[in-house]
Amino acid sequence: MILPGFSEEAQVRLRRSHAVVVGCGALGGASIDLLVRAGVGRLTLIDRDVVEESNLQRQSLFVDDDARRSVPKAEAAARRVRAIDPACEVRGWVDDFRSENARSYAEGASILIDGLDNFEGRYLLNDLALEMRIPYVYGAAVGYEGLCFPVLPGAGPCLRCLFPEPPAPGSAPTCDRAGVFGPAIALAAGHAMSIAIRLLAGVPCEADRALVGFDLSVGTSTRIALGVGARSPECPACALGRRDFLCGSRATRTATLCGRNSVQVLPSGSGGIDLALLQTRLTPHGSFTIDAGRLRGELSGESTPDGGRYELTIFADGRAIVHGSSEPEAALRIYARYIGH
Ligand SMILES: [Zn+2]
Repeated sequence: MILPGFSEEAQVRLRRSHAVVVGCGALGGASIDLLVRAGVGRLTLIDRDVVEESNLQRQSLFVDDDARRSVPKAEAAARRVRAIDPACEVRGWVDDFRSENARSYAEGASILIDGLDNFEGRYLLNDLALEMRIPYVYGAAVGYEGLCFPVLPGAGPCLRCLFPEPPAPGSAPTCDRAGVFGPAIALAAGHAMSIAIRLLAGVPCEADRALVGFDLSVGTSTRIALGVGARSPECPACALGRRDFLCGSRATRTATLCGRNSVQVLPSGSGGIDLALLQTRLTPHGSFTIDAGRLRGELSGESTPDGGRYELTIFADGRAIVHGSSEPEAALRIYARYIGH
C-alpha cells in the first residue's frame, strides 16, 4: 500500500478481483505466484496436465514430490496458493480448456491470464475476451525469448489484429521441443503480471499498453505501443466480429482409432506442415524418418501409460497419429509439445 501508485483502495480492488489462469505450467505458475502474493482474492486455475520431473527446471510452483506422485498441475497449484494465502479463494480444475467450457470458466472473471502452451488456446482466449469484454494478458516464452501484451477489448488491438492466424502446425518452437531458459519465464511472467496486477488494482499504466518482446540470448528487447490506432480494420475477430475459435469451428479434433491404441489428431489450421523442418527439430527427441510423404518416429523421452514409447506419424496436412495411448488428452498433449498448434 505504500508503493507509489497503489493505495488501500487499490489493495481492496485486488482482493475483490477474480483472475482466471489458463495453463498452470511455467508461465502460468510464475503468474499465479505473483497474483496470489499481490492479494488477488479469487483464482480459477485450469490445466489438463500432471507434474513431471522435467517440468521442475522452470515450473516454480511445483516440487519433486508432485512429480513423483504425478499430481495434476491444477491441484498442485491450488494447494500451493492455499499455502501462500489461505484467504485466497482458489479452485483448480483438471480440464482441457476448449470452446465448449471456455465461457463457464470465464464467468465473473476480472481478467484472463495466458499460461498456455498452444496457439489454439490463445486464439480461444482472445475470442473469449472480446465476447465477454474481459481484459486478456497474452504471454509466451520459449528458448531465450518471450513476448507479452494486453488485449483490452474496445480499447486496443486484439491478438488477431496483430497475428490474424495462428502459426501453421509444427512451425513455431515449443518449450518441450526447443527448451526454455528459466529466467525467460520469470521475465515474461513478471512483465505480464505487472500489466495484470495494475489493471486489477485499478491503477493501469499507459506504458503497459504495448507489445514487449525480448531475447535473452543477445540481451535485446523491443516495444511497440498498442493504442486504438493499432487495431486492424480487417481483423476477423474484433472488426468483423467472428468468433472462429469460441464457436468451435477452428478447434483441433481427435478421433480414437479403435483397437489400435492410437488417436488421430486433426488440427483445424490452414496450411500444411514442413515435414523436413519438423524432422530436424524432432531429432533430439528420437529417430524420425520421412517416407511416402509421412514423418514417422518414436519419442525417446516420453512414456506411455503402460511404460512403452509413443510413436508419431505426421502427415503433410498437419494431421498426426499418436500411437501408444487411446486417450485423446494424451494425444493432444503430445501434439502440443512436439508438433505445436
Ligand atoms: Zn482484432
